[in-house]
Amino acid sequence: MQHKTVKDYIRTIPDFPHEGIMFRDVTTLFADPRGMRLTIDQMLAPYVGMQIDKVVGLEARGFILGGAVAHQLSVGFVPVRKAGKLPGSVISQDYELEYGTATVELHQDAIKAGEKILVVDDLLATGGTAEAGIKLIERLGGDIVSCAFIVDLPELGGRKRLEAMGYDVKTLCD
Ligand code: 5GP
Repeated sequence: MQHKTVKDYIRTIPDFPHEGIMFRDVTTLFADPRGMRLTIDQMLAPYVGMQIDKVVGLEARGFILGGAVAHQLSVGFVPVRKAGKLPGSVISQDYELEYGTATVELHQDAIKAGEKILVVDDLLATGGTAEAGIKLIERLGGDIVSCAFIVDLPELGGRKRLEAMGYDVKTLCD
């Protein structure tokens, strides 16, 4: 019997959050003990032995993944959150959504200049969310080592966009 791959544990929900969107639901992957371990093991494997000072997770599923990856790499975890959620002094970054704009924030003292940062989220679509997070990290002087995602949606161009900007992108499935 063939073991399931990471992709096999991901469920697709049609018409969420809007009609016409095929939402890739990773909660079924997270809920499965083998799926969760497989995902974290595969995500962190390329970075074992590399110099990484902090993992930055993008709200919200990036927190689940980023916390586990940071634990395994024995480094700290830092959240990039939607506007208004972080209690301390923050820096903010706006980015474009399909309709309108959104804002993400990072604690001003969360990253020190020169620190090597791994960015983690569940899914890469247009790359707008990841780019906003990267901008925040770079404004504090952080150095982006790589960006890791479970899923790439290649037709939405996020990987090309981030790679064209010179960032390393790693994904577990398309
Ligand atoms: P982007 O900014 O690259 O266009 O969109 C990626 C962000 O939206 C990520 O934070 C991701 O969690 C969320 N996202 C967009 N579409 C999906 C989807 O189909 N499934 C999941 N799990 N997240 C999505």
